Amino acid sequence: MEFELIVGLEIHAQLLTSTKAFCRCPNRYGDPPNSLTCPTCLGMPGALPVLNDRVVRQAAKLAIALNATIHPRSKFDRKNYFYPDLPKGYQISQYDEPFSTGGWLEIEGSWGTKRIRITRAHIEEDAGKSMHLSDGWTVVDMNRCGVPLVEIVTEPDFRSPEEAGTFVASIRELLRHIDVCDGNMERGSLRCDVNISVRRAGEAQLNERSEIKNLNSIRAVERAIHVEQNRQIDIYDSGGSIRRETLLWDEASETLHVMRRKEGSDDYRYFPEPDLVELMVSSAYLEEVRSTIPTLPRERRKRFRDELKLHEEAVSFLASERAQGDYFEQVLACGIEARAAASWIQGEIRRILADRNWIINDLPVRPNSLAELIHTVESGAVSRQSAKEVLRKMIESGRSANEIIVAENLKQESDDSELRKAIADILSKHEVELERYRSGKRNLFGFFMGEAMKSTGGKANPKILNKLLQEMLDAK
Ligand SMILES: [Zn+2]
Repeated sequence: MEFELIVGLEIHAQLLTSTKAFCRCPNRYGDPPNSLTCPTCLGMPGALPVLNDRVVRQAAKLAIALNATIHPRSKFDRKNYFYPDLPKGYQISQYDEPFSTGGWLEIEGSWGTKRIRITRAHIEEDAGKSMHLSDGWTVVDMNRCGVPLVEIVTEPDFRSPEEAGTFVASIRELLRHIDVCDGNMERGSLRCDVNISVRRAGEAQLNERSEIKNLNSIRAVERAIHVEQNRQIDIYDSGGSIRRETLLWDEASETLHVMRRKEGSDDYRYFPEPDLVELMVSSAYLEEVRSTIPTLPRERRKRFRDELKLHEEAVSFLASERAQGDYFEQVLACGIEARAAASWIQGEIRRILADRNWIINDLPVRPNSLAELIHTVESGAVSRQSAKEVLRKMIESGRSANEIIVAENLKQESDDSELRKAIADILSKHEVELERYRSGKRNLFGFFMGEAMKSTGGKANPKILNKLLQEMLDAK
C-alpha cells in the first residue's frame, strides 16, 4: 500500500534586537549564565513588561516579506505551563489574535517551484535554557528568558522530507537577508518543530499526527521526518494507530523518543496578558517598514538568472548571501559586464574567502577596486593569470590594481612587433619541430604557444600571441 506524507512546520526565529522583548536586558548570546536578567524577565511579582518597538519592526519586516496580512490590531496572551526554565510559569505569546496571518514562501527543487502557505506568524518570548550536565545535574540559564521570537506556522503543505528541509533553508536565507534573525541553528536562534502524519494514497482526511520538537539543523529536519514517516507506516501496516505525542530526535542514534503525550491548547489555559495593551500598527508605519526591505532572495535570483543570464552555479553563490549579491551588484555598477564580474567573484574571490575563512565583508578589496582589476583584464592590459596574482597582492598590501601592475611591470605585451620578434626567435630555435608542424603535426601548436609565452615571461596577451603565432607558423 502506498502512503502519502503530510508535514507542517513550526519555526521559531529569535529576532535581532539589542534588548529583549519586554525589558531592557541585552539580547545577546554567549554571556555568563544568568548575567542578563532583571525582575521583569525573571517574572518577579510586580515587575511589568513593556513591548520593545524593535520587535514589532522586525516581525513586520518578516510578515511583509512572507506576503502575509498584518493585522492593525493584535493582542498578547499568557501561555501557561510549568517548566524549570520558565520562571514566570507562563510565556507571553499571541493566541487567537496574532500579529499576522496568511502569506506564502516559494521553494525550488527537483519538484519545480512550490508555494508553501503560511498559516500565521506571531510574536512571543523565548524561555530559559536547561542544561543537562554530564554529572547528572541539570542547571538553568535564564539569559534567554524574554528574548523575542517570531513563530512561523505553515499549512501542512509538505509531501517529502526534502521539501521541508528546503523550506527551512529558504526561510533561513530570507531571515538573514532582511536582517531579522541570524539563522544560527546550532546556537538555537532558529529552531524547527515538525508535525507529521501519513495517509493511504487516495484518502482525503488527515490522520492523527505526531510532533518532533526542536530540530536544530536542516539535515535533522529531513532525517527525522524520514524516520517518523517509516515508523507511522509500519504501525498502520501492522494494524495499529498513531497516538498524538511529542517526540524528541536523537541526532547521534537517529532515533525518536517519546517526550510527552501531546497537550491540546486547552491545557495551556491561554488568557489575555493583563500587563500589556493591545498592539496597534498603522498602515503608514507598515509602509515605512516596507521601504526598508531590500530586494528579496527569490527576486534577486530571478534577475541574475533571467536578466543577467548567469549560470546556475553563479546564481546560487551570489544570491545565497545578501552581502555577496550586494558586492556583485556594486561591481556591476562600476561598469563591469555581469558574466565577467560573476566569474571573478564566484571563482577567485570565493577561493580566497574559503582559504582565509572570511565572509565577503572581511575582504579588504572593495567592489570598486575589484572592478578596476577586472577592467585591466578585459582591456587586455594584464593576463588573467597575472591578475590573480595582483588580486592577492591587493589584499596583502592594500594597494590598487594599477599601482601593483605598474610597480611590478606586469603589463601584458600586446605590441605586435615585439611579439613577432619573440615568435621568430622561437621558430628559429626549433627548426625540427617547425618542419614537423608544417608537414602536418598540427598538435605542435601548443608547444610553440608555450615556448613563446615562456619567452615573454608570461606577459604576452594570449589572444594576440595566438593570432600572430598562427600567422607565422602558416606562412611558408
Ligand atoms: Zn530582563
